[in-house]
Amino acid sequence: LKGPGVQAVEDISIFINRGETLGLVGESGCGKTTLGRTILQLHEPTSGKIVYDGETIFEGQDPWQRDEEGQLHHVKVPKAKQANMLPYRRKMQIIFQDPYASLDPKMKVQDIIAEGIRAHGLAKSEKEIKERVNELLVTVGLNAQYGERYIHEFSGGQRQRIGIARALAVEPEFIVCDEPISALDVSIQAQIVNLLDKLQEEKGLTYMFIAHDLSMVKYISDRVMVMYLGKVVEITAADRLYEQPAHPYTQALLSAIPIPDPHVEAKKERIKMGGEIPSPVDPPKGCRFQNRCKYATERCREEEPALRLIGEDHYVACHLEDE
Ligand code: SF4
Repeated sequence: LKGPGVQAVEDISIFINRGETLGLVGESGCGKTTLGRTILQLHEPTSGKIVYDGETIFEGQDPWQRDEEGQLHHVKVPKAKQANMLPYRRKMQIIFQDPYASLDPKMKVQDIIAEGIRAHGLAKSEKEIKERVNELLVTVGLNAQYGERYIHEFSGGQRQRIGIARALAVEPEFIVCDEPISALDVSIQAQIVNLLDKLQEEKGLTYMFIAHDLSMVKYISDRVMVMYLGKVVEITAADRLYEQPAHPYTQALLSAIPIPDPHVEAKKERIKMGGEIPSPVDPPKGCRFQNRCKYATERCREEEPALRLIGEDHYVACHLEDE
Protein backbone atom coordinates (compact mmCIF):
# COMPACT_ATOMS: atom_id res chain seq x y z
CA LEU A 1 0.00 0.00 0.00
CA LYS A 2 1.26 3.48 -0.64
CA GLY A 3 0.06 6.98 -1.34
CA PRO A 4 -0.31 10.25 0.53
CA GLY A 5 -1.73 9.72 4.01
CA VAL A 6 -1.52 5.94 3.71
CA GLN A 7 0.64 3.60 5.75
CA ALA A 8 3.27 2.48 3.23
CA VAL A 9 4.21 -1.12 2.61
CA GLU A 10 6.28 -1.33 -0.53
CA ASP A 11 7.95 -3.92 -2.75
CA ILE A 12 7.32 -6.86 -0.47
CA SER A 13 7.25 -10.33 -1.94
CA ILE A 14 6.69 -13.22 0.44
CA PHE A 15 5.40 -16.77 0.48
CA ILE A 16 4.16 -18.85 3.40
CA ASN A 17 4.34 -22.62 3.14
CA ARG A 18 1.36 -24.70 4.17
CA GLY A 19 1.66 -25.75 7.82
CA GLU A 20 4.42 -23.30 8.72
CA THR A 21 4.50 -20.17 10.87
CA LEU A 22 6.02 -17.05 9.44
CA GLY A 23 6.89 -14.63 12.24
CA LEU A 24 6.60 -10.98 11.26
CA VAL A 25 8.41 -8.57 13.55
CA GLY A 26 9.02 -4.82 13.73
CA GLU A 27 8.25 -1.75 15.82
CA SER A 28 4.84 -0.13 15.60
CA GLY A 29 4.42 1.78 12.36
CA CYS A 30 6.62 -0.60 10.33
CA GLY A 31 3.65 -1.86 8.33
CA LYS A 32 3.42 -5.41 9.70
CA THR A 33 -0.24 -5.17 10.68
CA THR A 34 -1.04 -3.47 7.36
CA LEU A 35 0.66 -6.32 5.53
CA GLY A 36 -1.22 -9.02 7.50
CA ARG A 37 -4.58 -7.34 6.99
CA THR A 38 -3.86 -6.65 3.33
CA ILE A 39 -3.27 -10.35 2.68
CA LEU A 40 -6.74 -11.00 4.13
CA GLN A 41 -8.05 -8.01 2.16
CA LEU A 42 -9.35 -6.36 5.32
CA HIS A 43 -7.32 -3.47 3.88
CA GLU A 44 -7.79 -3.12 0.15
CA PRO A 45 -4.41 -3.49 -1.58
CA THR A 46 -3.52 -0.70 -4.02
CA SER A 47 -1.37 -2.99 -6.12
CA GLY A 48 0.42 -6.32 -6.27
CA LYS A 49 -0.71 -9.89 -6.32
CA ILE A 50 -2.10 -12.25 -3.67
CA VAL A 51 -2.11 -15.94 -4.50
CA TYR A 52 -3.82 -18.39 -2.15
CA ASP A 53 -3.36 -22.10 -2.74
CA GLY A 54 -2.57 -21.52 -6.43
CA GLU A 55 -5.51 -19.14 -7.01
CA THR A 56 -4.93 -15.44 -7.64
CA ILE A 57 -7.34 -13.61 -5.33
CA PHE A 58 -6.08 -10.10 -6.04
CA GLU A 59 -4.06 -8.57 -8.84
CA GLY A 60 -3.65 -4.89 -9.53
CA GLN A 61 -1.17 -2.41 -10.94
CA ASP A 62 0.34 0.31 -8.82
CA PRO A 63 -1.31 3.70 -9.45
CA TRP A 64 1.37 5.40 -7.32
CA GLN A 65 4.63 5.82 -9.19
CA ARG A 66 7.76 7.61 -7.99
CA ASP A 67 9.59 9.98 -10.33
CA GLU A 68 13.39 10.35 -10.43
CA GLU A 69 13.29 12.69 -7.41
CA GLY A 70 11.33 10.11 -5.46
CA GLN A 71 8.04 12.08 -5.54
CA LEU A 72 4.83 10.04 -5.72
CA HIS A 73 2.41 10.60 -8.62
CA HIS A 74 -0.99 9.03 -9.17
CA VAL A 75 -1.33 7.52 -12.66
CA LYS A 76 -4.24 5.80 -14.41
CA VAL A 77 -4.09 1.98 -14.32
CA PRO A 78 -6.57 -0.79 -15.25
CA LYS A 79 -9.07 -1.81 -12.54
CA ALA A 80 -7.69 -4.47 -10.17
CA LYS A 81 -8.94 -8.07 -10.52
CA GLN A 82 -10.46 -9.41 -7.33
CA ALA A 83 -11.83 -12.89 -6.58
CA ASN A 84 -15.10 -13.48 -4.71
CA MET A 85 -13.74 -13.43 -1.16
CA LEU A 86 -16.57 -15.34 0.54
CA PRO A 87 -14.92 -18.80 0.45
CA TYR A 88 -11.58 -17.26 1.41
CA ARG A 89 -13.14 -15.42 4.37
CA ARG A 90 -13.70 -18.87 5.85
CA LYS A 91 -10.26 -20.26 4.96
CA MET A 92 -8.37 -17.18 6.16
CA GLN A 93 -9.00 -15.90 9.67
CA ILE A 94 -7.51 -13.32 12.02
CA ILE A 95 -6.85 -13.18 15.76
CA PHE A 96 -6.57 -9.62 17.04
CA GLN A 97 -4.27 -8.06 19.62
CA ASP A 98 -7.03 -6.76 21.81
CA PRO A 99 -9.83 -9.32 22.12
CA TYR A 100 -11.80 -6.95 24.34
CA ALA A 101 -12.06 -4.41 21.54
CA SER A 102 -12.70 -7.01 18.84
CA LEU A 103 -15.37 -9.09 20.63
CA ASP A 104 -18.85 -7.60 21.08
CA PRO A 105 -19.43 -6.98 24.84
CA LYS A 106 -23.25 -7.18 24.39
CA MET A 107 -23.14 -10.71 22.98
CA LYS A 108 -22.84 -13.94 24.94
CA VAL A 109 -19.58 -15.81 24.28
CA GLN A 110 -21.49 -18.64 22.59
CA ASP A 111 -23.01 -16.20 20.09
CA ILE A 112 -19.63 -14.58 19.42
CA ILE A 113 -18.11 -17.95 18.59
CA ALA A 114 -21.19 -19.11 16.65
CA GLU A 115 -21.29 -16.04 14.38
CA GLY A 116 -18.98 -17.54 11.73
CA ILE A 117 -20.65 -20.97 11.94
CA ARG A 118 -24.01 -19.33 11.19
CA ALA A 119 -22.66 -16.98 8.50
CA HIS A 120 -21.06 -19.83 6.56
CA GLY A 121 -23.90 -22.34 7.21
CA LEU A 122 -21.57 -24.83 8.87
CA ALA A 123 -24.16 -26.45 11.15
CA LYS A 124 -27.65 -27.80 10.47
CA SER A 125 -29.36 -26.91 13.74
CA GLU A 126 -29.05 -24.71 16.82
CA LYS A 127 -28.29 -27.88 18.81
CA GLU A 128 -25.34 -28.66 16.54
CA ILE A 129 -24.11 -25.05 16.79
CA LYS A 130 -24.23 -25.27 20.60
CA GLU A 131 -22.31 -28.56 20.58
CA ARG A 132 -19.65 -27.12 18.27
CA VAL A 133 -19.26 -24.00 20.40
CA ASN A 134 -18.88 -26.13 23.55
CA GLU A 135 -16.27 -28.28 21.81
CA LEU A 136 -14.37 -25.18 20.68
CA LEU A 137 -14.36 -23.73 24.22
CA VAL A 138 -12.85 -26.97 25.51
CA THR A 139 -10.33 -27.05 22.61
CA VAL A 140 -8.97 -23.64 23.64
CA GLY A 141 -8.74 -24.67 27.30
CA LEU A 142 -11.96 -23.10 28.64
CA ASN A 143 -14.98 -24.54 30.42
CA ALA A 144 -17.85 -25.39 28.06
CA GLN A 145 -20.25 -23.57 30.44
CA TYR A 146 -18.49 -20.24 29.73
CA GLY A 147 -20.59 -19.86 26.58
CA GLU A 148 -23.38 -18.38 28.73
CA ARG A 149 -21.19 -15.52 29.98
CA TYR A 150 -20.17 -12.14 28.59
CA ILE A 151 -16.71 -11.04 27.55
CA HIS A 152 -16.18 -8.62 30.48
CA GLU A 153 -16.34 -11.57 32.88
CA PHE A 154 -13.01 -12.94 31.59
CA SER A 155 -9.30 -12.18 32.07
CA GLY A 156 -7.11 -11.02 29.15
CA GLY A 157 -5.75 -14.53 28.54
CA GLN A 158 -9.25 -16.07 28.61
CA ARG A 159 -10.52 -13.43 26.19
CA GLN A 160 -7.72 -14.26 23.81
CA ARG A 161 -8.69 -17.93 24.05
CA ILE A 162 -12.25 -16.91 23.09
CA GLY A 163 -10.82 -14.93 20.14
CA ILE A 164 -8.96 -18.06 19.04
CA ALA A 165 -12.13 -20.19 19.41
CA ARG A 166 -14.01 -17.70 17.23
CA ALA A 167 -11.33 -17.91 14.54
CA LEU A 168 -11.30 -21.74 14.69
CA ALA A 169 -15.11 -21.97 14.47
CA VAL A 170 -15.07 -21.75 10.65
CA GLU A 171 -12.33 -24.39 10.31
CA PRO A 172 -9.76 -22.09 8.71
CA GLU A 173 -6.50 -23.12 7.05
CA PHE A 174 -4.57 -19.89 7.49
CA ILE A 175 -4.65 -17.50 10.47
CA VAL A 176 -3.07 -14.08 10.75
CA CYS A 177 -2.25 -13.77 14.45
CA ASP A 178 -2.04 -9.97 14.74
CA GLU A 179 0.00 -9.35 17.90
CA PRO A 180 -2.14 -11.85 19.86
CA ILE A 181 0.09 -11.76 22.93
CA SER A 182 1.32 -8.15 23.05
CA ALA A 183 -1.30 -7.02 25.57
CA LEU A 184 -0.86 -10.04 27.89
CA ASP A 185 1.37 -10.72 30.92
CA VAL A 186 4.54 -12.67 30.11
CA SER A 187 3.32 -15.87 31.84
CA ILE A 188 0.06 -15.76 29.90
CA GLN A 189 1.91 -15.02 26.64
CA ALA A 190 3.66 -18.40 26.88
CA GLN A 191 0.31 -20.16 27.45
CA ILE A 192 -1.24 -18.60 24.35
CA VAL A 193 1.83 -19.37 22.23
CA ASN A 194 1.72 -22.99 23.45
CA LEU A 195 -2.00 -23.20 22.64
CA LEU A 196 -1.46 -21.84 19.11
CA ASP A 197 1.40 -24.28 18.63
CA LYS A 198 -0.72 -27.24 19.77
CA LEU A 199 -3.63 -26.21 17.52
CA GLN A 200 -1.29 -25.87 14.56
CA GLU A 201 -0.07 -29.40 15.03
CA GLU A 202 -3.55 -30.86 15.55
CA LYS A 203 -5.25 -29.02 12.72
CA GLY A 204 -2.40 -28.46 10.24
CA LEU A 205 -2.85 -24.68 10.42
CA THR A 206 -0.65 -22.10 8.73
CA TYR A 207 0.12 -18.92 10.67
CA MET A 208 1.44 -15.47 10.08
CA PHE A 209 2.42 -14.45 13.61
CA ILE A 210 2.87 -10.70 14.06
CA ALA A 211 4.79 -9.26 17.01
CA HIS A 212 6.61 -6.05 17.92
CA ASP A 213 9.63 -7.79 19.42
CA LEU A 214 11.54 -11.00 18.93
CA SER A 215 11.06 -12.51 22.40
CA MET A 216 8.21 -15.01 21.87
CA VAL A 217 8.36 -15.26 18.08
CA LYS A 218 11.24 -17.71 18.35
CA TYR A 219 9.09 -20.33 20.02
CA ILE A 220 6.40 -20.45 17.36
CA SER A 221 8.03 -19.44 14.05
CA ASP A 222 9.67 -21.59 11.41
CA ARG A 223 10.90 -18.51 9.57
CA VAL A 224 11.04 -14.90 10.75
CA MET A 225 10.71 -11.76 8.67
CA VAL A 226 11.89 -8.45 10.15
CA MET A 227 10.31 -5.27 8.82
CA TYR A 228 11.40 -1.67 9.15
CA LEU A 229 9.42 1.28 7.85
CA GLY A 230 7.37 -0.66 5.32
CA LYS A 231 10.23 -2.79 3.99
CA VAL A 232 11.57 -6.26 4.70
CA VAL A 233 15.13 -5.95 6.07
CA GLU A 234 15.83 -9.60 6.90
CA ILE A 235 14.14 -12.96 6.46
CA THR A 236 15.42 -16.42 7.31
CA ALA A 237 14.81 -19.56 9.40
CA ALA A 238 14.03 -18.69 13.04
CA ASP A 239 17.09 -20.51 14.46
CA ARG A 240 19.42 -18.84 12.02
CA LEU A 241 17.99 -15.38 12.69
CA TYR A 242 18.58 -15.74 16.42
CA GLU A 243 22.08 -17.24 16.00
CA GLN A 244 23.39 -15.14 13.10
CA PRO A 245 21.36 -11.93 12.79
CA ALA A 246 22.86 -9.98 9.89
CA HIS A 247 20.92 -6.70 9.76
CA PRO A 248 21.86 -4.04 12.36
CA TYR A 249 18.14 -3.54 13.12
CA THR A 250 17.61 -7.27 13.81
CA GLN A 251 20.72 -7.23 16.02
CA ALA A 252 19.29 -4.31 18.01
CA LEU A 253 15.89 -6.01 18.39
CA LEU A 254 17.58 -9.20 19.61
CA SER A 255 19.75 -7.34 22.12
CA ALA A 256 16.57 -5.86 23.64
CA ILE A 257 15.17 -9.28 24.65
CA PRO A 258 15.54 -9.66 28.43
CA ILE A 259 17.42 -12.77 29.58
CA PRO A 260 15.79 -14.48 32.62
CA ASP A 261 19.19 -14.96 34.37
CA PRO A 262 19.97 -11.63 36.20
CA HIS A 263 23.78 -12.22 36.07
CA VAL A 264 23.76 -12.77 32.31
CA GLU A 265 21.29 -9.92 31.83
CA ALA A 266 23.51 -7.49 33.80
CA LYS A 267 26.55 -8.28 31.59
CA LYS A 268 24.66 -8.27 28.29
CA GLU A 269 25.43 -5.49 25.84
CA ARG A 270 22.25 -3.78 24.71
CA ILE A 271 22.43 -2.08 21.33
CA LYS A 272 20.82 1.33 21.62
CA MET A 273 19.03 2.68 18.59
CA GLY A 274 19.24 6.46 18.48
CA GLY A 275 17.08 8.73 16.35
CA GLU A 276 13.40 8.78 15.59
CA ILE A 277 11.58 6.44 13.18
CA PRO A 278 11.03 8.54 10.02
CA SER A 279 7.55 8.91 8.55
CA PRO A 280 6.67 5.89 6.37
CA VAL A 281 4.79 8.18 4.01
CA ASP A 282 7.91 10.21 3.28
CA PRO A 283 10.84 7.84 3.89
CA PRO A 284 14.45 9.07 3.58
CA LYS A 285 16.49 8.47 0.43
CA GLY A 286 18.84 5.49 0.72
CA CYS A 287 18.55 3.04 3.58
CA ARG A 288 15.49 3.71 5.73
CA PHE A 289 17.39 2.71 8.88
CA GLN A 290 20.33 5.12 8.28
CA ASN A 291 19.55 7.68 11.04
CA ARG A 292 19.51 4.96 13.72
CA CYS A 293 22.37 2.80 12.45
CA LYS A 294 25.88 3.11 13.89
CA TYR A 295 27.38 1.63 10.70
CA ALA A 296 25.75 4.11 8.29
CA THR A 297 28.02 5.45 5.52
CA GLU A 298 27.63 7.91 2.66
CA ARG A 299 26.48 5.03 0.45
CA CYS A 300 23.67 4.23 2.93
CA ARG A 301 22.41 7.82 2.60
CA GLU A 302 22.38 7.64 -1.21
CA GLU A 303 21.48 4.10 -2.21
CA GLU A 304 18.68 1.92 -0.89
CA PRO A 305 19.98 -1.59 -0.13
CA ALA A 306 18.20 -4.40 -1.98
CA LEU A 307 17.12 -7.59 -0.24
CA ARG A 308 19.62 -10.23 -1.29
CA LEU A 309 20.61 -13.78 -0.49
CA ILE A 310 23.59 -14.07 1.88
CA GLY A 311 23.27 -17.70 2.98
CA GLU A 312 20.88 -20.63 2.89
CA ASP A 313 17.40 -19.06 2.65
CA HIS A 314 18.80 -16.00 4.43
CA TYR A 315 17.92 -12.65 2.84
CA VAL A 316 19.18 -9.27 4.10
CA ALA A 317 18.87 -5.69 2.89
CA CYS A 318 22.07 -3.99 4.10
CA HIS A 319 25.18 -2.64 2.32
CA LEU A 320 27.41 -4.15 5.01
CA GLU A 321 26.77 -7.51 3.38
CA ASP A 322 28.51 -6.30 0.18
CA GLU A 323 31.81 -5.72 2.00
FE1 SF4 B 1 23.04 0.46 8.43
FE2 SF4 B 1 23.82 1.10 5.97
FE3 SF4 B 1 23.07 -1.39 6.54
FE4 SF4 B 1 21.29 0.56 6.41
S1 SF4 B 1 22.53 -0.21 4.73
S2 SF4 B 1 21.41 -1.00 7.97
S3 SF4 B 1 22.42 2.26 7.29
S4 SF4 B 1 24.84 -0.28 7.36
